[in-house]
Amino acid sequence: MIKRILITGGAGFLGSHLCDRLVEQGQDVICVDNFFTSQKSNVVHLLDKPNFELVRHDVTHPLFLEVDEIYNLACPAAPGHYQYNPIKTIKTSVMGAINMLGLAKRVRAKILHASTSEVYGDPTVHPQPEQYRGNVNPIGPRACYDEGKRAAETLMFDYHRQNRVNIRVVRIFNTYGPRMHPYDGRVISNFIRQALAGEDITIYGDGSQSRAFCYVDDLINGLLRMMDAPDDFTGPVNVGNPDEFTIRELAELVIELSESSSKIVQARPLPEDDPLQRRPDIKLARENLNWQPTVPLREGLARTIDWFRRVDMGGFRAPTPNY
Ligand code: NAD
Ligand code: UDP
Repeated sequence: MIKRILITGGAGFLGSHLCDRLVEQGQDVICVDNFFTSQKSNVVHLLDKPNFELVRHDVTHPLFLEVDEIYNLACPAAPGHYQYNPIKTIKTSVMGAINMLGLAKRVRAKILHASTSEVYGDPTVHPQPEQYRGNVNPIGPRACYDEGKRAAETLMFDYHRQNRVNIRVVRIFNTYGPRMHPYDGRVISNFIRQALAGEDITIYGDGSQSRAFCYVDDLINGLLRMMDAPDDFTGPVNVGNPDEFTIRELAELVIELSESSSKIVQARPLPEDDPLQRRPDIKLARENLNWQPTVPLREGLARTIDWFRRVDMGGFRAPTPNY
């Protein structure tokens, strides 16, 4: 049966790949976005498809539609973007969740929320399993995002318990790939952009902090499996790649794969509250979704570098000065 599927933040990096996959499946896709950190170019190839519709809308305002499923992805995700207007960021997470949950309740739609590994803050447990309650600074510069996402998870479970809304919560770990915004300031887009331009590769701190990077196609598979999982599996479930790298190792790999002559420099101290380590425990996703990542960092980075080489950087505007 063809489903009517709403994707908020659908013109963004992850959202546009999700739109691609669901349009390809033949579903009826409604992409909602306010284009804060994205642009129409990410979905322009879908505009002439009969089963795709693009709506400019801000999720902090209510939305009335008839749909069967909702993927709630709307929220700036890069630290520079979400810290630019922190009050708007927390409004987007919390009011966006309330509006989408209200819609899900009204039309009895299933709703999947894109949460984040940031709910674990600067983790003291490593790797991070879903039962770990995290170490978030509630008053720091990352709190608008971390606490907004935590409150959105709370709302998901309260609507589930109080109104029996059919929910799914996915905690996404660092994801990368084609269509990342070249000026989002995230580590992979910065390093690739710098390597291709022959500029210095900017490490923050000494580069010993770690992250585990998931290729976008793997991540989208995880979201689709979670939406189709049995109704009693609400999550939260970690979706990410457990292969962990230091930021210095990442810089070296980007230089090698892009055959760049760039130098690695320690450009600034580690930003406040920057997590020192991060790596998902994906046992739950393996067991319940039969999901695990398949694309190693080396391969995913090569594909991403190839995309950055081909794309016209002039076609992107920097959404905020923070990159
Ligand atoms: P992105 O910035 O490319 O996408 C977010 C999209 O939401 C953009 O198109 C933006 O314009 C839109 N948006 C922002 N505020 C909005 C609002 N008020 N109303 C409507 N649209 C709005 O980022 P992404 O990497 O694609 O992230 C998508 C989701 O996944 C986010 O919720 C993010 O928190 C989550 N996530 C991403 C990662 C990652 O590594 N990419 C990691 C953890 C969680
Ligand atoms: N980082 C870096 N140089 C950059 C951009 C980021 O060293 O040019 C570091 C950042 O301090 C963090 C890690 O890379 O330790 C990942 O940063 P990103 O903004 O991609 O995502 P985060 O996981 O912190 O949300």
